[in-house]
Amino acid sequence: MSFEFQIESTSSRTRAGRLITPHGEIETPVFMPVGTLASVKGVPQDTLEELGVQILLGNTYHLYLRPGVETVRKLGGLHGFMSWPRAILTDSGGFQVFSLNELRKVTEEGVTFRSHLDGGSHFFSPESAMAAQIGLGADIIMAFDECTEFPADRARAKASMELTLRWAERSKKYFEKHKEEVPWSTASGFRLAGPGSAYVGTAAPGCPVERSSTAFDSVTSPVEESGLRSDGQPGTAVPTYSEQTQSLFGIVQGGMDLELRKESALRTIEIGFPGYAIGGLSVGEPRNLTREVVEATLEHLPADKPRYLMGVGTPEEIVEYSRLGIDMMDCVLPTRAARHGLLFTSEGRVSIKQARYAQDQGALDPKCGCRVCRRYSRAYLRHLYASNEVLAQVLNTIHNLSFYLDTMRRVRHSIRLGEESRFF
Ligand SMILES: [Zn+2]
Repeated sequence: MSFEFQIESTSSRTRAGRLITPHGEIETPVFMPVGTLASVKGVPQDTLEELGVQILLGNTYHLYLRPGVETVRKLGGLHGFMSWPRAILTDSGGFQVFSLNELRKVTEEGVTFRSHLDGGSHFFSPESAMAAQIGLGADIIMAFDECTEFPADRARAKASMELTLRWAERSKKYFEKHKEEVPWSTASGFRLAGPGSAYVGTAAPGCPVERSSTAFDSVTSPVEESGLRSDGQPGTAVPTYSEQTQSLFGIVQGGMDLELRKESALRTIEIGFPGYAIGGLSVGEPRNLTREVVEATLEHLPADKPRYLMGVGTPEEIVEYSRLGIDMMDCVLPTRAARHGLLFTSEGRVSIKQARYAQDQGALDPKCGCRVCRRYSRAYLRHLYASNEVLAQVLNTIHNLSFYLDTMRRVRHSIRLGEESRFF
């Protein structure tokens, strides 16, 4: 089995569970930091592990352009290439291409677009987007969809939704035929963790079950038994599993029209996926509309499958969406805001560039236990930012990610205790 979703606690619409992927288990609801180019800007992988990141998101469009899918595939897929032993999700490239605006042309066959790097012409179809994501080798990959722009009238939203449904069928068809080509599948042979690989890294707090996944229970390789790598050094082998491969999620579209959202949900479910995403939000609509669409769409998604809300949100929003029954979320906000000196704390937002922190000896967030708040003062962080030191971006990002991950940890804990009302 390559993918499993277990719901362990529910209360009202909220639920806490566990996603079992080929690269470890993920406690849900989960926030997924964005590592666009196989890197969460400024933060090394061992630090991400220490922070308790259970799953990272990579962007297919960016990785396809640079360094290229074939390069990543040859180097063992994203897991091997970036030395990340835990789970990864890639988007289909649809949303990224959508944000290119004038640089793209959509037809039934797919999307022609120009690279934002050099203006070169490229083409994504459901089939080529699947091929790219299989080559990148994330644990969870996404169907190729068209992200409907906002505002869009009903006819336009419907036509776009229909196109996404046809593309979802083509995505699934291609995936089913080619899923064994993933760089770490049994078919591609046995691989060892590379030198210094994080496969031999430490387990993170909050992710105690990593590498003891039930999906691996029956697997023992000869090399694992000997405990030696081919170079004779002690090492840890990547387990093989006869049915171990990626999971493809479908995406619900339909613009801001609740009837279309319902239709899109039901017809995507009919095609059949192990998980469902709500796409086409955070495209410029007011936040109360986002919430309304999420709530209405959730009603039609199967309770026993993971539900992924793409591209949200603020710390308050990720708590709110967890309450509504969302299991997975991603957003560039904590990392991007950090690079601009905007920090999320238990006392609200802190713009660290402000002069009033110049002599502030206090911790950034007295309630945060992250390595930044334990060690450095607001005055020092403000100085680093004002001096344009690279360390400012690193430390700010570590804190913001820590704040998001702690928030989700508390949400999960509250749900498990049946006391979510206390937190929410
Ligand atoms: Zn902190």
